[in-house]
Amino acid sequence: MSNDDKSQMLDRQTRAAQALGWEDESTGAVVPPVHFSTTYTRRKQDYGLKLDGSYIRDTSPTAAHAGAVIASLEGGAEGITLGSGMAACTAAFHALEAGDHIVCARPCYHGVVAWLETFAEARGLSYTFSIAGDSDAIAAAIQPGKTKLVWLESPCNPTWAVTDIEAVVKAAHAVGAKVGVDSTAATPVLTTPLALGADIVCHSATKFLAGHSDVLAGALVTATPEDPLWQRILDHRRYGGAMLGAMEAYLLTRGMRTLFLRVERQCANAMKVAEFLEAHPAVPKVYYPGLPGDPGHAVASRQMKGGFGGMLSFEVNGGRDDAIRTVTACNVWKTATSLGGVESLIEHRRTSEGDIKTETPDSLIRLSTGIEAADDLIADLDQALDK
Ligand SMILES: *Cc1c(COP(=O)(O)O)cnc(C)c1O
Repeated sequence: MSNDDKSQMLDRQTRAAQALGWEDESTGAVVPPVHFSTTYTRRKQDYGLKLDGSYIRDTSPTAAHAGAVIASLEGGAEGITLGSGMAACTAAFHALEAGDHIVCARPCYHGVVAWLETFAEARGLSYTFSIAGDSDAIAAAIQPGKTKLVWLESPCNPTWAVTDIEAVVKAAHAVGAKVGVDSTAATPVLTTPLALGADIVCHSATKFLAGHSDVLAGALVTATPEDPLWQRILDHRRYGGAMLGAMEAYLLTRGMRTLFLRVERQCANAMKVAEFLEAHPAVPKVYYPGLPGDPGHAVASRQMKGGFGGMLSFEVNGGRDDAIRTVTACNVWKTATSLGGVESLIEHRRTSEGDIKTETPDSLIRLSTGIEAADDLIADLDQALDK
């Protein structure tokens, strides 16, 4: 039994904390080195390789380790890391063939919408946007024989609608379509889409997985490596050049060691902030699946384990200017986009989404809760809402 096999029997929290129990055989180091080498020697006696590849664009020990940790936490057969979350999402689209149809549930990450609108048609792909959180609508958008991929995000940006993954998988698999789930907001701590039947899990590892707002990275995990779509994704990463750099891979593995602790605290903070906002007279609407009145609460209670995530949004009375006034009145919450880091972030979402056609209300403020003291976060929002 290899070290990896043994570690698979341990709890996921143990596997994450120990980065799969890694130890250096020659030195005893418990932290892996960063392998910056772009190339690897062949043996003199048989011209064979010590690793799976000879060149860093194919594989590198540091990137492979990060991919193995993510695969282990997601309960998948194989995991890879890529240069960004967008590289991961779009690798799945690149792996499709001309004539294939995609169903994409919206809202979702704005970059995915922008990619489809910019590149899909020219590549011979067609797509239908359906409704996140509505598995019947998503099932109805699937075109038997033509739809090859259903793409969904749960909870999704920026309304945190929760989609019943099992229900979508059932409808998609009935007609031979694959299901890809962008699980960036849920993290493997709260949801494991492969256990619900999904074929591929995607992460912007920039966010919760790395967790410190200092790494750009993406990850994909497959249920079965024999899947032809997965094989084309691997080819796309290799020949499209979407590999993750060594330093980023190292930081990602380092970040994932504290993933469970961070997400547990972020969920607790988000819940307290959501409850505070829901009770505030200047807040007409809060979007958080942890609130009993949220439309996604029933599915989330079944599908998400241990919490409802660190992400939430809310609306203020009025429009864009009122929302921006609230955002910029915050001091503890940093006025920046992105999510999943240890520091709390606040943004006017529509500004960050740029030019795409979006249904995001102009009065919507998106919050990424960090690991600070909840009282400080709440007091800061309270004074900002009074301005
Ligand atoms: C940020 C994000 C992405 C894009 O990831 P990058 O690492 O910024 O390329 C994709 N999906 C979701 C849900 C995200 O939050």
